[in-house]
Amino acid sequence: MTARVLIVDDVPANLKLLEAKLMAEYFGVLQASSGPEALEVAVREKPDIILLDVMMPGMDGFEVCRRLRAMPETSHVPIIMVTALDQQKDRVEGLEAGADDFLTKPVDDVALFARVKSLVRLKMLTDELRMREETGQRIGLVGEDTKTEVSAENGQILLLDDRALSRRRIVETLSQKHSVTTAEDGEDILRLASTSDFDIIIVSLSLEDADGLRLCSQIRSHDATRNIPVIVLVEEGNVERLVRALDMGVNDYVVRPIERHELMARVRTQLRHRRYQERLRISLHASLELAVTDPLTGLHNRRYMTNHLTTQVDTCGTKDKHVCLLILDIDFFKLVNDTYGHPAGDAVLKEFATRLKANVRGIDLPCRFGGEEFVVVMPDTDVAFASSIAERLREQVADAPFKTPDGSSIDVTVSIGVASTLGSQDTVEALLERADQALYRAKREGRNRVVADAA
Ligand code: GH3
Ligand code: MG
Ligand code: MG
Repeated sequence: MTARVLIVDDVPANLKLLEAKLMAEYFGVLQASSGPEALEVAVREKPDIILLDVMMPGMDGFEVCRRLRAMPETSHVPIIMVTALDQQKDRVEGLEAGADDFLTKPVDDVALFARVKSLVRLKMLTDELRMREETGQRIGLVGEDTKTEVSAENGQILLLDDRALSRRRIVETLSQKHSVTTAEDGEDILRLASTSDFDIIIVSLSLEDADGLRLCSQIRSHDATRNIPVIVLVEEGNVERLVRALDMGVNDYVVRPIERHELMARVRTQLRHRRYQERLRISLHASLELAVTDPLTGLHNRRYMTNHLTTQVDTCGTKDKHVCLLILDIDFFKLVNDTYGHPAGDAVLKEFATRLKANVRGIDLPCRFGGEEFVVVMPDTDVAFASSIAERLREQVADAPFKTPDGSSIDVTVSIGVASTLGSQDTVEALLERADQALYRAKREGRNRVVADAA
């Protein structure tokens, strides 16, 4: 992993030392020797992570951290505060200023690099989601609502700590702002984690009856739990286990004896990350849905249908299965618009889509192809069966008039062309063309009928 690290320290010797260590680990290094310079370099160079000294003349590290968090360009860059201060109060102030971690000098190199790598890895996932969101915004599919602040309260937290006293303290502390569920043992935590919706999992790495590291790796490898942030509880001085946990993808840690404010601050940070990522995921999903959905009828659109059909046609050659295609075109639809108005025409299209959905099978894909033309893709289906479904659709349209919002009743009929794939040489274009020819015959022979391609 190559990452660009911005180191900020007012003492040149400290900068030199850290630079040498980071370069030896193949990180790219940027430097700043004051708070204002750090802000400027961070905005211009977009580093992957920032190592920030606290005590600097002028603007101190806490203030730099708060300002970095407040700017949209830098609000998601991980920050590790590195300092000689080791008062609990300072740690908490750093975490509350928005730092992801607070390490005390002299810093253990192994722990530092493990932490840098784990934070950079987590950032890359968020970066990828942010990039996709930007693309969505550029093409006008995603709104701006993902920019607002997410809440860091009312989290659902799952805890496994087999020390009764410590467990009670944690529950007591976190319950002020969150809701905490305690797991009995290793099996219990895996079961709970995958069946309920938790925001954060906290696991002790020094359990009597289970291997905490193994549990973390299992949580990371299951689909249902892989995106839930994990915070581990570690014994003081147990760097080796901590490094392994971080390499495994654990998000954060708290060293025993647990300090309440620090625990609260770390939980809050993870909750913010988690909710921000969730929101990006949901907004991406919505934008994808929007890109492939017809807004009037809610059916999939032509773009989606064509892609889906390409996959179907490509696989049917090798699997000796046939895909059938229906093209439906409403008869004399222009007359509906001309007689009752365009809004009435829209209402007919909506009602038509509803009847279409209700009369095809679950595996069939109904789409709006454009205007008053619809397509149904029917996987693993022969022409005879497809024609019978088409005939049922034709009846369902012709048998009952369509109602419009202003109360009119409109008689509507539809013509349908049916075609099937012809083997491994067939293409989507050829299939669509044959279905279109069949539709054309249905129109010519008097409309309100189903015609299947003869091939
Ligand atoms: P045919 O039986 O030969 O299919 O005749 P038709 O009138 O249905 O066919 P034509 O292609 O001449 O007309 C289609 C009409 O559909 C013209 C167009 O204004 C209308 N149309 C297309 N999209 C929409 C829409 O979204 N809403 C409404 N209300 N009308 C639409
Ligand atoms: Mg028509
Ligand atoms: Mg038409």
